[in-house]
Amino acid sequence: MVKSWEALEQEFRSLTPRSRAQWERGKPVMPGGLIKDAYWSRPHPIYMERGDGCHLWDLDGRKYVDFGNHHTAMILGHNAPEVIEAVESELKRGIGLGAPTALEAEMAEELTSRFPSVEKIRFTNSGTESSLHVTRLVRAISGKPKVAKFEGAYHGSHDALEHSVSPSEEAAGPSDSPKSVADWKGMARGSEDDVVVLPYNQRESVELILREHQDEMGAVFFDGKPGLFDVPPDFTHFLRDLTRELGMIMVMDEVVSIRAGHGGYQGSVGVEPDLTYFGKIVGGGFPVGAIGGRADLMDILDSTESNKGLRQSGTFSGNNFTLAAGLATLRALTPEVLDHLDGLRARLHAGMEEVFSRAGVPCQVLSSGSIVSFHLTDQPIRDFRSALSSDKDLFGRITLALLIKGQFTQQGLGFSLSRPMGTEEIDGVLSAIEETLAE
Ligand code: PMP
Repeated sequence: MVKSWEALEQEFRSLTPRSRAQWERGKPVMPGGLIKDAYWSRPHPIYMERGDGCHLWDLDGRKYVDFGNHHTAMILGHNAPEVIEAVESELKRGIGLGAPTALEAEMAEELTSRFPSVEKIRFTNSGTESSLHVTRLVRAISGKPKVAKFEGAYHGSHDALEHSVSPSEEAAGPSDSPKSVADWKGMARGSEDDVVVLPYNQRESVELILREHQDEMGAVFFDGKPGLFDVPPDFTHFLRDLTRELGMIMVMDEVVSIRAGHGGYQGSVGVEPDLTYFGKIVGGGFPVGAIGGRADLMDILDSTESNKGLRQSGTFSGNNFTLAAGLATLRALTPEVLDHLDGLRARLHAGMEEVFSRAGVPCQVLSSGSIVSFHLTDQPIRDFRSALSSDKDLFGRITLALLIKGQFTQQGLGFSLSRPMGTEEIDGVLSAIEETLAE
């Protein structure tokens, strides 16, 4: 069942010599030959030449269905006409005007109208930058040094929150009171002491831990991980009630979960956090981040009349290309488009369950909005620990086999669907999975 690594790697190498050559070229001048670690995959990364609709073409001219979707950012696919038109019209106005433009308020209004919890908003350049600024914001507002986050949740790459995203089993501590483990070397000394790690879906433990740290805890960061972990809406409501009772700021990471629906994950479960931050689709494919929330909290950033002790800056924040592409993207996500994506999601979800069950491979399929993921285990994926039980070796081989069959995915964020896809693409990837499992 499923070819060996050796067989798959040999086949992949013979199909992608130009990608190999490009990788070799980059090796002397970039660590690992790569611009970022997320692009690494055995036996060498795949280099893309161009994209159109829901397809990508690699340097060897091979065509792929794009289920990676630039880490979920390209919900309209590549070259969406409204995005191209918006960006072309910005090109004519100029690059980097170094002053506010009318687009900012337009985008702020678009987001505040979709998210009732978001009254005011500021723009940044990435999800990472957003969560970094939010951490500072919540410490400044609350006067408390600590923040809490959930084990297995990634909020961006920085010292304030990159803890226990993917801790080793030995370091992670008990599952009901996980230890805070710095994910990387080189993080600020003691950074883990200011981060308290919570287990998904374990109410009693979460309550116990938060009460224990009540006096020093300013905020709880939360990503509902729709389509990636099975976190019932009840748990999110419980967390909202508890943080409110304990006087902690609830921060929602909607960088990926915004795909859950018109008003993001929070709209789909009916929970209003105090602060939210965004990224990915909100920039229509351009680098983006945004921080929003209750006006009384956001107004600490208003230094027009007096200095409130906190400034937020960034040369490229809210640049006109990002805002124009993001606005065009959000406006294109009409109820019809979201229904279309949801229909494809349901078809892929049901099809995957069928295909894995026919092949006798234990598998958990999860989905929400336009994200579908699968974990090769018989345990429900309720938290980071249960996700660890997934057969990573088999998952890796299936991913490579799919790439050979022209199905492009990116690890960690499941299968991400885009507007140009139809039932043909969904049925195509299902057949490819079925073939892969039978080989
Ligand atoms: N939060 C979540 C849930 C993410 O998945 C990511 C990136 N994959 C980030 C934050 C960080 O966003 P960025 O890569 O734009 O810095």
